[in-house]
Amino acid sequence: MLRGDTPNLRGPEGQEAPMGSERSERRFDSAHLHQFKMQNLKLKIKNFSFCLIILIFVFWVLNLSGCATLPPTQKALPTYSLNGTKYFPLISFCEQEGLTWDYDIFTKVITLEKNSQKIILRPKETIVLVNGSEKNLHFPVEIRQGIVLLPLSFKAQIFDPLFKPVSVGRLPAGPPLCKIRKIVIDAGHGGKDPGAIGRTGLREKDVVLDIARKVARRLEKAGKEVILTRSTDVFVSLERRVEIANRNNADIFVSIHANANRARSLSGFEVYCLSNSVDDFSRALAFAENNNSLNLEDTSFYNSSSDLKAIVWDMVNTSNRQEAQELARYLCRRISSELGVKTNGTKGGPFYVLKWTQMPAVLIEVGYLSNPAEEKMLNSGLYRQQIAEHIAAGILDYCQDFISVVKK
Ligand SMILES: [Zn+2]
Repeated sequence: MLRGDTPNLRGPEGQEAPMGSERSERRFDSAHLHQFKMQNLKLKIKNFSFCLIILIFVFWVLNLSGCATLPPTQKALPTYSLNGTKYFPLISFCEQEGLTWDYDIFTKVITLEKNSQKIILRPKETIVLVNGSEKNLHFPVEIRQGIVLLPLSFKAQIFDPLFKPVSVGRLPAGPPLCKIRKIVIDAGHGGKDPGAIGRTGLREKDVVLDIARKVARRLEKAGKEVILTRSTDVFVSLERRVEIANRNNADIFVSIHANANRARSLSGFEVYCLSNSVDDFSRALAFAENNNSLNLEDTSFYNSSSDLKAIVWDMVNTSNRQEAQELARYLCRRISSELGVKTNGTKGGPFYVLKWTQMPAVLIEVGYLSNPAEEKMLNSGLYRQQIAEHIAAGILDYCQDFISVVKK
């Protein structure tokens, strides 16, 4: 029942109904009743429309404020980790960056397009065609449960240079912008400290010096400033190695060693970072690497403070550690994919030179001198050249990708 149906009516203007004869009053009431009903109905419709407009407005404001706080372009992409490499879903990336995509299920070719720029890629492959020219991703495009995944470096390597070039004014003239300019290459052992010795008498100090020099040469060719902690067969204390890196404000520190173990069957390439969680194997290796040199040192550095042995972990810059782990992954990736050598992955170990250097630092074990096959390989100059080439390439890959982080 409408509110205006009450017999004692007031008009919308608030006037009393006029008085007269009973009949005319009844006729008058009936006409007015109908008129009032109509007016009230119109009023209701007006009120309803007004409420509807208010509701729409409120929704619009809420929606707008949601957009303002979380614009779609700033939403973090979901990431997945595959074999230690981070990936994000292609579709989410396309939605975020406004790319159109097409996946040909027969040829397995994925085409991404935006502003007449075209990127073509395929799952399981590192080759990408950018407007027809070939580029190489550091990690392959993957597909898992029907979801195409792009390596995180796709953005820095392919997408950003194409769609978000850095303005020329911000770039310094001369060599390309890169935070990593100064690299310390540390050849382990030397002089009176031979390091590990293989069955045929191949000494770690000689193998790693040769590789370190070759890595240095390759990096210098690429425009990097390289500092070798030793360039000849001399003994350099661990303390001195750290001092060289820290005094020179190096951007990264790469120590090169060769491994040895009683188990002759052990083989492979390993990269170590400083880590809190280490297994007994890493601990033993670090103990051997540290003490080989420390026992031969003239200083009584370690003897003076037993605490130093205990506090291997603390005081370490977290970001340096994270960057070192990234660098280690790049190195392993290069060695396993291009040299075809078994890599035992990235490991954590309490190595002296990793602990005290004030920059991202890694320690590479290029192979096992205790393994007859690897000793034979490491005895070959050509093999050492290849190892050096790929270590340098891994470092340069890392430097290249690091640019994008610095630019942000
Ligand atoms: Zn060593």
